[in-house]
Amino acid sequence: MTFRLYDAHNHLQDERLTPQREAILAAVRREGVARMVVNGSCESDWPDLLALARSCPEIIPSFGFHPWYVNERSDDWQSALLRYLEAVPSAIGEVGLDRWIKDYDSEQQEQVFAWQLRLAAEHNLPVSIHCLQAWGRLLEILRAEARPRCGFLLHSYGGPHEMVAPLAELGAYFSFPGYFAHERKARQRETFKSVPPDRLLVETDAPDQLLPAERIRYPLADTASGKPLNHPANLGAVYDFVAELLAEPLESLAPRVEENFVRLFGRVAAH
Ligand SMILES: [Zn+2]
Repeated sequence: MTFRLYDAHNHLQDERLTPQREAILAAVRREGVARMVVNGSCESDWPDLLALARSCPEIIPSFGFHPWYVNERSDDWQSALLRYLEAVPSAIGEVGLDRWIKDYDSEQQEQVFAWQLRLAAEHNLPVSIHCLQAWGRLLEILRAEARPRCGFLLHSYGGPHEMVAPLAELGAYFSFPGYFAHERKARQRETFKSVPPDRLLVETDAPDQLLPAERIRYPLADTASGKPLNHPANLGAVYDFVAELLAEPLESLAPRVEENFVRLFGRVAAH
């Protein structure tokens, strides 16, 4: 039996995937991926993402400024973002806070994040949030600012177990990446067992966050460097892992993830 699969978070527009994009898309379709939210990360990748979204009905584009790139933004970034959001039905992301990267600038990150969160709230658009080592601050900002009524996604949620309930109360969905199948990610796996059933989503984060080698169904390598990349068609392998972890058959897990996905992202799915 095959199921309709939903990738809550990837970066199909990433230039590392461009040389093999056609073959990748064919594999994604064969695997039964019904929809994927493809996240931009800065002004320079928004044009590619827009073109890709226009040519590929499975894609829900998401435009936003990622915390890693906030210092590269132009004076015009806010009006540019608005233009992309008006061009096609789209979500907002990837946005967020990151104190894991070297030389992070918390003040800039928080300003850019809060502005995009307010924009999402104003237009009631689903927003995809990245957070590393800044969970306390994230919760404070989410509590202080307006939030989209439709909810928001915490992609690859790796925050504390105790924060799942308060975040869910604010409207959070939590997406599970294949990367958490690595043995050392035991804490993150345990945390996912307490995610409310109606708030669980699944993601690849392709081309990053590879599954452990033995679980990879679609191996892929960077054509320039030869380094391994995560193929977006590994989504089915991530679903299989989540089904194992939660001891829930795919027959009930897949339709539940579909319902959750449609509840959060359905308003920006064009068809
Ligand atoms: Zn991402």
